[in-house]
Amino acid sequence: MAKPSVFITRSIPEPGIVLLQDAGLLVHSNPQPRTLQPQELRKEVARHDAVICHMTDRIDDALLAAAAPRCRIFATCSVGYDHIDVAAAARRGIVIANTPDVLTESTADLAWTLMLAAARRAGEGERVVRAGQWRGWGMMDFLGTDVHGKTLGIVGAGRIGTAVARRATGFNMRIFYHARSDKQAMQAIGAQRVPLSTLLEQSDFVSLHVPLTEETRNLIDERAIAHMKRDAILINTARGAVVDQDALIRALAEGRIFAAGLDVYPSEPSIPTELLSLENVVLLPHIGSATVATRTEMAKMAARNVIAVLNGNEPPNPVRATA
Ligand code: NAP
Repeated sequence: MAKPSVFITRSIPEPGIVLLQDAGLLVHSNPQPRTLQPQELRKEVARHDAVICHMTDRIDDALLAAAAPRCRIFATCSVGYDHIDVAAAARRGIVIANTPDVLTESTADLAWTLMLAAARRAGEGERVVRAGQWRGWGMMDFLGTDVHGKTLGIVGAGRIGTAVARRATGFNMRIFYHARSDKQAMQAIGAQRVPLSTLLEQSDFVSLHVPLTEETRNLIDERAIAHMKRDAILINTARGAVVDQDALIRALAEGRIFAAGLDVYPSEPSIPTELLSLENVVLLPHIGSATVATRTEMAKMAARNVIAVLNGNEPPNPVRATA
């Protein structure tokens, strides 16, 4: 009998591939260092029993239709699954699985990288040094804002939001969170649940950790930004479309908030020139989970999800369609 085969849409760390091979699966990978076009991807998924994909692949009903009936699972190397039509997959009997938990701490570290860099104008300072324009120490130069002792507002108090908040206790910060229900882990570190408008009005740092859903798309729009303090800093490591990018650009350009730190954008990898030209924003290329250890764990987790389903079992990390 032919061995079942797995298609990997773009390269993953080797330990994930080794797990698949040790489980007796044939592994085929996209050899190109780029995301496949929808028509290329459609051709590939039809020929395999399982797919390991990424948040850059659009797994819509048309793609799932091409994958069925042979393909039994799409295992995404991400915790977010806004790129997948989970309901369509369920209708077609295709399992969806993701990689929660293993990327929580690395992504929380990155949110803090952005908070500290935006508060202390690190990007701006580095650009000046690299351009050979630094004229030496100046009492009045590069004045930023403190992080310690300030108020942090967490929007989306799940795994990553809570990990970001936990770090804030070491900076002696007051912590607010916005959620649809009380979160015990947040309460345990003294964080207080408040309505979004209160959080925006009273926080010095607002850090976004909600998944992208119809409810959270453009959650931080012109109106929400208008609630923020003039010296507040907005951090987004969730998904780009949670923020109205044009409204944020206007607010930053007009000095209506102090700064922003972004890891994610609505139309990656495209970033408007207006945003690129602003000094008061730190821009990173979607690297929340990008450490060797974390990406390796994500690859192994995706592999385990595939192996379980091809062996006729439930995957360790299924994503279920919500009604
Ligand atoms: P999680 O544990 O599911 O946490 C998300 C939280 O958001 C949940 O606690 C949920 O709580 C809350 N939430 C959902 N809808 C909400 C709404 N409308 N209003 C307020 N709260 C809402 O997910 P996670 O593991 O922390 O990951 C969060 C997101 O981070 C992912 O979905 C992904 O998009 C993003 N991410 C980005 C990177 C990166 O590289 N930058 C890396 C990893 C993850 P309730 O359901 O109880 O309301």
